[in-house]
Amino acid sequence: MSSSPQTAPALPSARSAFGFEVGHRLEDTAAVPGERAAANGGRFGGRTGTITTPHGTIATPAFVPVGTQATVKAVLPEAMKELGAQALLANAYHLYLQPGAEVLDAAGGLGAFMNWDGPTFTDSGGFQVMSLGAGFKKVIDMSGAGAAGDDDVAAGKERLAHVDDDGVTFKSHLNGDLHRFTPEISMQVQHRLGADVMFAFDELTTLHNSRGYQEASLERTRRWALRCVAEHARLTGERAGKPYQALFGVVQGAQYEDLRRRACRDLAAMDFDGYGIGGALEKENLGTIVRWCTEELPEDRPRHLLGISEPDDIFTALENGVDTFDCVSPTRVGRTGAVYTPDGRFNVNTARFRTDFSPVFEGCDCYTCTHYTRAYLHHLFKAKERLSATLTSIHNERFIVRMVDGARAAMADGTYFDYRDEVLGRYYAGRA
Ligand SMILES: [Zn+2]
Repeated sequence: MSSSPQTAPALPSARSAFGFEVGHRLEDTAAVPGERAAANGGRFGGRTGTITTPHGTIATPAFVPVGTQATVKAVLPEAMKELGAQALLANAYHLYLQPGAEVLDAAGGLGAFMNWDGPTFTDSGGFQVMSLGAGFKKVIDMSGAGAAGDDDVAAGKERLAHVDDDGVTFKSHLNGDLHRFTPEISMQVQHRLGADVMFAFDELTTLHNSRGYQEASLERTRRWALRCVAEHARLTGERAGKPYQALFGVVQGAQYEDLRRRACRDLAAMDFDGYGIGGALEKENLGTIVRWCTEELPEDRPRHLLGISEPDDIFTALENGVDTFDCVSPTRVGRTGAVYTPDGRFNVNTARFRTDFSPVFEGCDCYTCTHYTRAYLHHLFKAKERLSATLTSIHNERFIVRMVDGARAAMADGTYFDYRDEVLGRYYAGRA
């Protein structure tokens, strides 16, 4: 089944449809005051750039909103475009189970299927196979607390995924049917889904796993990456005529510097178009771990951080050299009534907004804030109307897009650290 990268067929010239160019480097453009520079050992890998795909370009750094099931929940694609989203990320695991990758292939790929003409990403399915499958629900326990265990299953959950050296057998969270993902199957599924950017199939570990398990897992992920590259090359040749799909390798290694750096060097030696930084990341180590990775990874390839959410984490990632990241929070918290503002997050459900006829925040240029009041949103939530999720999601997605647009502009004009401190200082002052 496995073939070495030496024997993999060369990718056709269609590959030139994907590319990445670095623009401004944070180190070159920002006047870094001593205190802030010291905080990071004086090294900042942040940069602006442009990712080119067959479905358009992405100005980086960029936030990639999540449309798990080929839809950003409750939001029309036209609204996503209007609020400034440059690309969308869908989940291979969900689309494989329902409606099936062959349906998207027949529709002309993910973008055509969901009426989104911009760039698209799919993850490999690894995260969902192992996180949903192992019963951790949607969020891997990243607390790092408690006893280390290599057979962790969230309390009260049946283990639904089994990892072996060849792949993962798991039960569908929809109906319990048994399925199997291998690196080859993940590549076949993602080629049929047709996104512009795909991710290699990797094993996700948690901070509860022992050091020994992390080492064994990382080696498994390395061998799976080689198999993904080979299968990707085969499929790219077989499906000539389809738009080129870029493949990103995924860096694991948990909280261990030597493992993270080794993983980056291993993946850098393979034929990837870009890289994903994955795995359990503790908030306090996020910047350090991202920096280990960006120091090792090739400068001329884009780096995507898989799944972060809080504004401070976003800035930490960007200044340490992350070009794109995905984040499900704006819609997830929006559906519960939580809205972001420059002064922090608040919940529009609460009684004090019943007769508040101001927008979510004055000065927001989103569709929701330019047309509706807090009182109206409050009413929609109380009445359990579906428009509530649509309007809060539009506002929240716009908030993150605008924040990252601001970071990109500030990196380009040399004011990044002032911008960051102003945004985060205000957001966490908690006046909302
Ligand atoms: Zn707004």
